[in-house]
Amino acid sequence: MERNDYDDLKIILWLILFLVFGIIIITCKPDSHEYIMTVNGPESPGKMGITLEHEHILVDFIGADSTGYFRWNRDSVIVKALPVVLRAKEKGVKTIIDCTPAFLGRDPLLLKSLSRSSGINFITGTGYYGAVNNKYLPAAFYSLDAGGVADIWIKEFEEGIENTGIKPGFIKIAVNPADTLSPEHTRLITAAAITHLQTGLTIASHTGPDNPAFAQIKILKNMGVDPSAFIWVHAQSGTADGNLMAAREGVWISLDNIRSRPESEPGAPYTIEWYAERIAEMKKQGFLSRVLISHDSGWYDPGKPGGGTIDGFTDIFEYFIPALKTKGFTDEEIDQLLIKNPQEAFKIKVRRL
Ligand SMILES: [Zn+2]
Repeated sequence: MERNDYDDLKIILWLILFLVFGIIIITCKPDSHEYIMTVNGPESPGKMGITLEHEHILVDFIGADSTGYFRWNRDSVIVKALPVVLRAKEKGVKTIIDCTPAFLGRDPLLLKSLSRSSGINFITGTGYYGAVNNKYLPAAFYSLDAGGVADIWIKEFEEGIENTGIKPGFIKIAVNPADTLSPEHTRLITAAAITHLQTGLTIASHTGPDNPAFAQIKILKNMGVDPSAFIWVHAQSGTADGNLMAAREGVWISLDNIRSRPESEPGAPYTIEWYAERIAEMKKQGFLSRVLISHDSGWYDPGKPGGGTIDGFTDIFEYFIPALKTKGFTDEEIDQLLIKNPQEAFKIKVRRL
């Protein structure tokens, strides 16, 4: 009898051990498990494929105090946006990063529906847009310090945006193109740094010229965030030297308004040739691995009748890649710009100094 009791006890102990280890294995996410966050949930970076890292499906310019989901009808937006997205898909695009922040028309459910009907991965973001003199900052922002703002963004990452269950895949903020950061914009980049350190979300900041870029990089470094967690959005408005200097620190250089501009003189700023020249220089200096490209195109505008015209997401494939090839870029280098670099940039990973 005694022996049987002992055997029973052994079986029970083994069962408990199995249960405990099972729970540990299921709940532990090993550090090596790299992922991105799409509107459909976490995904392996390897599944991103050709990625457009800065586009917009919808932008509502009316201002933070007046915008809301009532301003558009999702089905009407999808009727207009789907053909545009499908034309990008025909060019091989698999992932689109939607850079529209909250209070400017961010709509995670719209992106999820569009993802379901197009088969494209969409990534949405958390964060606030301070550019245009704070027109798109919610009133609540002014009563919060950077930690309070970060708490809102971190909660979106942990619990999902509003009640959608959809989580952001990056932080999108925006600062004025001024030489020094205003107190509000200092608070935005500080909140972004806090959020990054807690969540690993990459910070994409609508910035433009060199000075506000370096002001933000300085704050990030002071807070112990590695510059490789930072995407300098609209870096084409910065100088070529500024782009190189930031790339040397590890910053992502987003050259993101690449569109055919037949009305401009050949080689004039922001033409296809001008962008190709800037990227060729980055390559020559050994920093092709820090460059991101996109159209910053779109979008359905609820302020216009019928949403206005949605510009396409295909100029890079129709005009820009041929221009890069003329400059001697290989297929591998083009894949680096459109596949490898976005995978690395949007990987959710804390980058400490
Ligand atoms: Zn944009």
